[in-house]
Amino acid sequence: ATPTALMVGTGRGAQLGILIKGPEVLESTRRIDTIVLDKTGTVTEGSMALAEVHVADGEDEAEVLRLAGALEHASEHPIARAIAKGAAERAGELPAVEDFANLEGRGVQGVVDGHLVLVGRTALLADWSQYLPEDLERAKAAAEVRGRTAVAVGWDGAARAVLVVSDTVKPTSAEAVRRFRELGLTPILLTGDTAAVAGSVAAEVGIDQVIAEVMPKDKVDVVKRLQGEGRAVAMVGDGVNDAAALAQADLGLSMGTGTDVAIEAGDLTLVRGDLRSAADAIRLSRRTLATIK
Ligand code: ADP
Ligand code: MG
Repeated sequence: ATPTALMVGTGRGAQLGILIKGPEVLESTRRIDTIVLDKTGTVTEGSMALAEVHVADGEDEAEVLRLAGALEHASEHPIARAIAKGAAERAGELPAVEDFANLEGRGVQGVVDGHLVLVGRTALLADWSQYLPEDLERAKAAAEVRGRTAVAVGWDGAARAVLVVSDTVKPTSAEAVRRFRELGLTPILLTGDTAAVAGSVAAEVGIDQVIAEVMPKDKVDVVKRLQGEGRAVAMVGDGVNDAAALAQADLGLSMGTGTDVAIEAGDLTLVRGDLRSAADAIRLSRRTLATIK
């Protein structure tokens, strides 16, 4: 009866858009008690748009957009794509970039029109002694409490603008979080974004534990730390910065809409970008296991 039950389980799984790597995965679904959710692209759509541009006194908005847009054009990050697209729409053709560097989890830098331009976290600009003026700090804080991500733009010794990108929470995420709780799982939101943004998104979907401002390379350590506390951890991510964490988790669930790396790292692949299928996958796997035993 065992092989038949497995086939039924995986066949039903395929119908629901869930791919299971192997039979040993089923056992992991029974043990897990905690589910870590990556914010961008997992709980949120991950398709961001440039929503607000705030420039410092005396700065030219079109120039800010040209320089920041040119730089972000060289990056694949969802924030970068939103800024490059918005900048091209508003400011026209973007200039070339030299000496581009992607500073993972912090932002980007490069030379545009002879200026060394930085776009990213305020902490990145602060390393170059570029600090936001008070009105821009306020604009950033106001955006963040609404769940929007604000990044700073600076060059030649001064911070010059704040660009705000909006992402939207997937309409199905709140229901997915409810289902995780019904399955006895404690949901935790994990992100490199600020605590303010994370808190806003968490509140919207009903999560009360947030681990924010985590650098991409440190996401795996968060999973290890939770495991060290005696938890059995499931992790859902899209592979952008979180493939190592997916692999470390007792159960890694990768969004099929994410990267190939995620699909490689995960135990279960959710073909649809819908977080509810993570709950379906766990429920179905546990039930399949019960049928076998
Ligand atoms: P997440 O955990 O949401 O996937 P990341 O770890 O990739 O986010 O990035 C963390 C933070 O670093 C972002 O919220 C942003 O402030 C900054 N950042 C990263 N890459 C970029 C970029 N290309 N342009 C601007 N800011 C960036
Ligand atoms: Mg991510």
